[in-house]
Amino acid sequence: MSRLLFALLLSATPALAEAPRVVTDLPLTQSLVAGVLGDDAGVTALLDRGADPHHAQLRPSQARALSGADLVVWIGPGLSPWLAGPLDSLAGGRVLDLSAVPGLYTQDFAEDEHDDHGHDHDHDHAHDDHDDHGHDHSGMDPHLWLEPGNVAIWQRALGAELAAGDPEHAADYIARAEAAAAGTEALRAEIEAILAPVGDAGLVMFHDAYGYFAHAFGLNVVATISGGDASAPGAARIAALRAELQHDRAVCLFPEANHPDDFARVVAEGTTLRIGAPLDPAGMELAPGPDLYARLLRALAQSIADCVTAG
Ligand SMILES: [Zn+2]
Repeated sequence: MSRLLFALLLSATPALAEAPRVVTDLPLTQSLVAGVLGDDAGVTALLDRGADPHHAQLRPSQARALSGADLVVWIGPGLSPWLAGPLDSLAGGRVLDLSAVPGLYTQDFAEDEHDDHGHDHDHDHAHDDHDDHGHDHSGMDPHLWLEPGNVAIWQRALGAELAAGDPEHAADYIARAEAAAAGTEALRAEIEAILAPVGDAGLVMFHDAYGYFAHAFGLNVVATISGGDASAPGAARIAALRAELQHDRAVCLFPEANHPDDFARVVAEGTTLRIGAPLDPAGMELAPGPDLYARLLRALAQSIADCVTAG
């Protein structure tokens, strides 16, 4: 063996043992990966704070990050249909679609058992002239992380995925994944306590993102203003909703971070609805970090409890 080749081998060996380069769709998924990786240095989120998971376009630098990743983790085409094409053509490494992980609790849009309202998305669409995105609201609700049990399943799946790609550190990934999943199950009790005063108060949400949260914590979401992809509601939709809410026991209406809230005043005008603090269901306004998921759930629960108990 030549001296040069030997030197090259020596210098190459440590690189093989390095942690994988992981790219995620959102800061939310970045936080979950970082918790299992034990370090957030190697994890890049494609979307920045303030972006909309439902509607985005890749910049050239983001396309390069995708093609250079050992592993891409995303919530899936239901949440971010815009990312499916770039992933197909650009991703050079493995891809983990979290919506396809076995064992998840799933439900369709607006089919929560607490929603006894007969809210019909197909009907909404017929009247919504702003809705030209071709997103299918009749399918599975992709806001899966708002059921903590799903996140615990994801954390274990991430442990297995990282272990498969880096067998030398497999035991570390699996152990951290188990600890993270246990932390998520403990978080559920904390959120239940924050939401205890809410009871079955009627809630009106901006977009159809809260089916899992309502199911997990027994909330009574009586209506949503926009569809499952947070498109701006049309005038006809707002008028229909105002008529609907006059017969309802709705208590609070919640605008959403990063979306115009003028509709909230229009819908609430002349009713007894209180307007709560804007909700941020994907944590897109939060500072990135390994605990982003916990902060996301706490903020949702606290905003809802604060509004309901203000009356
Ligand atoms: Zn959404």
